[in-house]
Amino acid sequence: MSENSNQPVMGRVYSLESFGSVDGPGVRFVIFLQGCAMRCKFCHNADSWDMQKGDLYSSDELLKKALRFRSYWAEKGGITISGGEPLLQMDFLLDFCKKAKAEGVDITIDSSGNPFTRKEPFFSKFQELMNYVDLFLLDIKEIDDEIHKDLTGCSNGNILEMAQYLSEIGKPVWIRHVLVPEYSDKDEDLKKLDAFIKTLKNVERVEVLPYHTLGVFKWQELGLDYPLEGINPPSKERIANANELLHTADYTKYLG
Ligand code: SF4
Repeated sequence: MSENSNQPVMGRVYSLESFGSVDGPGVRFVIFLQGCAMRCKFCHNADSWDMQKGDLYSSDELLKKALRFRSYWAEKGGITISGGEPLLQMDFLLDFCKKAKAEGVDITIDSSGNPFTRKEPFFSKFQELMNYVDLFLLDIKEIDDEIHKDLTGCSNGNILEMAQYLSEIGKPVWIRHVLVPEYSDKDEDLKKLDAFIKTLKNVERVEVLPYHTLGVFKWQELGLDYPLEGINPPSKERIANANELLHTADYTKYLG
């Protein structure tokens, strides 16, 4: 329930995936929440940006739907809440995660880190959320802030700060890096990103996510020019190079 009324906190949901296998450990029910303030040039869900869209659910309705798939989750699986950007719907996220954790569900949050701040009222809520969340998937899209701003429309300052906070409290994290040729594929920056990741004490996995063009049609449907027109997905060699420079094979806790 919300703090000031008997009305349930409603969440705006972009889409649901019953059997996710790439957004956290094991088989997972993945909830993609609506709304994102970033404007990544490679975004493959540009239709998830608008905060006013999406299907409205209460936590109870959504949890009931997810728990129908519980028998598939086995030991490692559970629920992942992704987006859009899930931290933008913090009150709903708190309500949902609290109830899901009371049911003993393993919870992963997949976040861009963009809303993170140590200021109130966000920070107290984020700290409470930490009681219910088992794992964060955190994208670090580019370590150089100027390139990050060009690529995503936003600074990476608060994203790196969120990574540092999660390290301070020892919350397990998987770092994901979207490899975009001409932007986030420079050896020098990959080495800097590797050095930054090595300062963190909680990283269980590092993943390279190769840029792809599967979501281009969504930009067209929204009447938007696609900003990465002419940029192709990275070659196998560049993907291997990024994996090598980021030492992804060294983070083996969940591999296999
Ligand atoms: S953070 Fe994710 S949802 Fe938001 S614009 Fe970037 S890729 Fe799209």
